[in-house]
Amino acid sequence: MDVHHVNLTISAVSASQYPNTQFPEIAFVGRSNVGKSSLTNVLINRNGYARTSSQPGKTQTLNFYNIEDKLFFVDVPGYGYAKTSKANREKWGHMIENYLTQRDQLKGVITLVDGRHAPTSDDVSMHDWLKYYGIDILTVATKMDKIARGKWNKQASVITKTLHLEAMEPLILFSALTRQGKNEIWQWIEGRM
Ligand code: GDP
Repeated sequence: MDVHHVNLTISAVSASQYPNTQFPEIAFVGRSNVGKSSLTNVLINRNGYARTSSQPGKTQTLNFYNIEDKLFFVDVPGYGYAKTSKANREKWGHMIENYLTQRDQLKGVITLVDGRHAPTSDDVSMHDWLKYYGIDILTVATKMDKIARGKWNKQASVITKTLHLEAMEPLILFSALTRQGKNEIWQWIEGRM
């Protein structure tokens, strides 16, 4: 999609504030610093539009970005501040858990992992959790420009194995610097609209 109009519609702190539309919604989740704002900005052709992830301890909000009056990107606060997935989810709060499991307009979740390393145990818990709820997941490995191309296949297989991705589960290698992967991610999103 060629994006010209983006608006931060609401930073919601409760479900009553979610947009009252039937536009499809695509959520973005990942550990803090994984490259979520950078990915969002590449997708919407902006520099520095999507704000950087909230800091630990700050109020956790769900940020709804209206894209071209056609869909919403929903920025989910970063996880990974606590060691166990249960503690993570408490930190996240019930609002986010309920949003991801119950929102009819939510058509898919893009989960980001740092392409330079094996996914962390938090990444694995998050993927397992989303999968358990039957959520349509796209895994994106970020910062691939930091890895030599000759190592991409090996790294993709480490990510596939660590997250237990099945053959049909998509994994896209992405770089915010080179924009590698941008079109494939948009294709996945447009397939859910
Ligand atoms: P967020 O906390 O998940 O929103 O992460 P940011 O998008 O703010 O990125 C965290 C840091 O990683 C920043 O210093 C970015 O410049 C850097 N970064 C993000 N994506 C990439 C990428 O694809 N390539 C490189 N080289 N750096 C990246």
